[in-house]
Amino acid sequence: MKIVEVHTVLVDVPCIRPHAFINHQIDAQSYLVLTIRTEDGLVGVGEGVSPGGPWWNGESVEGQKAVIDHHLGPALIGRDGARIRQIMAELERVAYGNWFAKAAIEMALYDLLGKALDAPLSVLLGGGAVRDQLPVRWALSSRGTQEVVDEVVQRHREGYRSFKFKLGAADPASDVRRIAGILDAVPPVGTLHADPNGAWDRRTAAWAVKELEALGVDVLEQPIDRGDLAGMADLVRRSSSIEIMGDESVCTPADALQACTARACDSVAVKPGKAGGIARALTVANVCAAAGVRCYGGTALESSIGTAAAAHLCASMPELQGGCELIGPLLLSDDLVEHRVQYDNGYLALPEGPGLGVSVDWDKVDKYGR
Ligand code: MG
Repeated sequence: MKIVEVHTVLVDVPCIRPHAFINHQIDAQSYLVLTIRTEDGLVGVGEGVSPGGPWWNGESVEGQKAVIDHHLGPALIGRDGARIRQIMAELERVAYGNWFAKAAIEMALYDLLGKALDAPLSVLLGGGAVRDQLPVRWALSSRGTQEVVDEVVQRHREGYRSFKFKLGAADPASDVRRIAGILDAVPPVGTLHADPNGAWDRRTAAWAVKELEALGVDVLEQPIDRGDLAGMADLVRRSSSIEIMGDESVCTPADALQACTARACDSVAVKPGKAGGIARALTVANVCAAAGVRCYGGTALESSIGTAAAAHLCASMPELQGGCELIGPLLLSDDLVEHRVQYDNGYLALPEGPGLGVSVDWDKVDKYGR
């Protein structure tokens, strides 16, 4: 499986509605589509993404393309594509960090190996899927009240029983009032999850834990800065019913070990991109499972390509107490594959077929390419 070509292209796929983050909103989600070709003509496909741009961890799809085109990609040429662990270990010496870019490469290598062996990715991850379908938590926009109410009602009707509210775009008191207003206007919906993306300081977060617990919110994700593990641990001790989830604080396996040792979270959002790949994300999940910390399948708003990869990961994690949030394809008005990943009654089905289990539609890649 000698690698002879690594190719990257940037695409911008329009969203079905504007998706608001703390400081900005997007009308289209950008992706890096990466292909790795072997001398016998096999092609593996990976996807690079950062949710809404570089605000999340500093990486952008443009930066991922540059580091792959100039540094990581050339290091792959001539290598045996089946030796995924060896290649990924060597890429650590080519460039520090760049986790989302490395995850795109690893995804394409797994797709390649799966196609070569005629095996789905979940089988390559060590013995096949633990679960064939994943309960999906629906993530709402950071802004608007009536739009969010309408969206909860519609998605509840479609079978979603678990919802995530994005906070942090407004001041904390009006943000909490907004959530209270939304909850008054919608039917009882099961698990409620709030995520201010680290926008609060310790004092605000300690206040918000009490307010959100009173509203019946079950999960509070990354309330304070990603680097403040002591503050996160303090919130874990202060909370009674609400579960404190680490996201930005827990990217890599080393982060997971530190956070679990510090008792800085009750649960972790596990994602292949921020971890530096699927294998490392599975290590994060294993560290959490060993520490008795719950796992949740987070999203970086992947298209069907990255969602398929993340679905194989979530299906293979030892525990997945919170289900997943892999709604990326449903926020897009179109997709990059021939057959979009399948959702039914609030569940995402694990894709079948070798590798990721999706086939890229190259006409769509051309259409949305820059
Ligand atoms: Mg988050």
